[in-house]
Amino acid sequence: MSGEKENIMVVLSSPSGVGKTTLTKKIQQKYQSFKISVSHTTRPPRSNEVDGVDYNFVNLKKFEQMIEENEFYEFAKIFDNYYGTSKQNVDNIIKENDIIFDIDWQGTKQLSKFKNLKLIKIYLITDDKIELKSRLLKRNQNTNEEIEKRFKAFDDDIKHWKDYDYILVNKNLEVCFKQIESIILDNKEKKNLLHLK
Ligand code: 5GP
Repeated sequence: MSGEKENIMVVLSSPSGVGKTTLTKKIQQKYQSFKISVSHTTRPPRSNEVDGVDYNFVNLKKFEQMIEENEFYEFAKIFDNYYGTSKQNVDNIIKENDIIFDIDWQGTKQLSKFKNLKLIKIYLITDDKIELKSRLLKRNQNTNEEIEKRFKAFDDDIKHWKDYDYILVNKNLEVCFKQIESIILDNKEKKNLLHLK
């Protein structure tokens, strides 16, 4: 995998419920050049999710086979399910597009080991845990037990903020989106300048 042309790779991580998936989708909608890296997962689809769009939903046997055949750049077990980034998907996208990864801190650590990848790593947090809990409840995508698990994982998750290049506090979605945009544009510009030399 190599960042061909001036295409960039953005990693967006956060504890569950901070707004990462919404922001990832907003970036893709506004910037045609961006494609989202669609992960493989053993988690069952939620009612609003589409196979091949939100995730590639696979069973455990298939996922284990992909691990065995070294088909992932990274994978992790999160909340009892496996999630992974397929090499083939990423290699295809980066030839023509910028790429955005919605992955956790474990995946970010693994991707960072590929020194040829120039990743821009952004970590999103919230300073309002009450709001976080109400967001997890409102989105109505998990059982109460799962919501509790995700809420409790917050403190462990944020311990990994140091692995990232930028830390953003998502107090307001629009403001946060603008901050991500300016990080992206700044990095694109740097790449283009390098390209001109
Ligand atoms: P969810 O079940 O809410 O869709 O995702 C749970 C967590 O898994 C989120 O933090 C998300 O960023 C992370 N995740 C999704 N895909 C991947 C992946 O391919 N690799 C890793 N390491 N984490 C992922």
